[in-house]
Amino acid sequence: MTYIEIKEGTRLSVPNNPTIGYIEGDGIGPDITKATLYAINSSLEFAYKGERSIEWQKVMVGDEAYEKTGKRLPQESLEQLRRCVVSIKGPLTTPVGEGFRSLNVTLRQYFDLYANIRPVRYFPGVPSPVKNPEKVNMVVFRENTEDLYAGIEWKYDSEEANRVRQFLSEQFNISLTPDTGIGIKPISKFRSQRLVRKAIQYAIANKRRSVTLVHKGNIMKYTEGAFKDWGYELAATEFRDQTVTEEEYSKNPEAYRNRIVVKDRITDNMFQQVLTRTEEYDVIATTNLNGDYLSDAIAAQVGGLGIAPGGNVGDVYAIFEAVHGTAPKYAGLDVANPTSLMLSGVMMLQYIGWNEAAKVLEDAIVQAYKDQKVTQDLARVLNIKPLKCSEFAEEVVKRM
Ligand code: NAD
Repeated sequence: MTYIEIKEGTRLSVPNNPTIGYIEGDGIGPDITKATLYAINSSLEFAYKGERSIEWQKVMVGDEAYEKTGKRLPQESLEQLRRCVVSIKGPLTTPVGEGFRSLNVTLRQYFDLYANIRPVRYFPGVPSPVKNPEKVNMVVFRENTEDLYAGIEWKYDSEEANRVRQFLSEQFNISLTPDTGIGIKPISKFRSQRLVRKAIQYAIANKRRSVTLVHKGNIMKYTEGAFKDWGYELAATEFRDQTVTEEEYSKNPEAYRNRIVVKDRITDNMFQQVLTRTEEYDVIATTNLNGDYLSDAIAAQVGGLGIAPGGNVGDVYAIFEAVHGTAPKYAGLDVANPTSLMLSGVMMLQYIGWNEAAKVLEDAIVQAYKDQKVTQDLARVLNIKPLKCSEFAEEVVKRM
């Protein structure tokens, strides 16, 4: 097996036949993974005629791992993912009440995958609830490791909550009633800035027009507000020659024509703006909770979660994944929509620098939608005959 190597701690060196990990996932995971690996392999064959290919390594996580080893995320699987550096995964069940939060959260923390990246664009032919879905072309960078998702919280009647309430009362004269649950919202400079850095680097590499910092800093000044301030500070110090603030730009647009405009919006306003002034938004960098809500809302504008891809990316490690869940009622029926995972495959190919194959795969998916080749989730809305998951993959491959 030939693995992707990490050079100087930050750069990937990708051989022509790298071993890449895949986690099938639970529920519809095996169906959409099969369809996706087939489509990726076909795009490589088409783009590189055998010169480049992927050796897929199955990594057991989730229900299957639990059945075979008694653990949902065995140590051996974590080691395989580390060796592969880059992987793709289907959705995983979050078991209720087993003493850990979620496999997805565990994976993100273990590999410090601090940026959740969600490109959202419209594919002609996909039914959408808005009038002009074609105006949507945004990439959301959501901070993935802190904020209210850090898991620092206590039930209202726990001993810990009681101690925190007591501390607040004694030290700060803040009085909370005994029926108050407590959650902590940590937002740090280092973690905010590495996320914004990734968003700006992406904007530069992909010739995007703007990066919008989305925050609720008018209310939460020292967390959300600080995120915005640290974002602007980073843009001004590390990317001084490539970026410009919205204010500077508006005074002299000609002078800053080729710069990336850095702007900020308050979260509630942003939810309106993505609907009413859609074209004005491009790359978005935001905190964890805002990003969770906003990325689903933007995805809904272009036809929903079944087609939205995602990537969890750190400094080098990356796991690309469908953003939807395991859709248990469709498990094993070969009816699920594999587009989300296929497009995550496109992101994965771009991440390792195999842009030719990424384009072949993406164009084929776009063409399939133009030709109204869709699975039941969308066929139902369009009132046309649905394709099975595997048939959809065939239609995509035919269009390469
Ligand atoms: P879900 O995304 O599985 O389902 C929501 C709705 O969308 C359902 O009606 C489902 O049938 C449909 N749907 C989702 N993906 C589809 C696809 N590819 N094709 C056709 N229809 C699709 O969300 P849920 O029901 O809230 O969660 C089910 C399980 O998935 C839970 O255990 C949850 O924890 C897990 N989950 C995992 C991830 C992940 O691994 N990243 C993400 C979300 C939920």
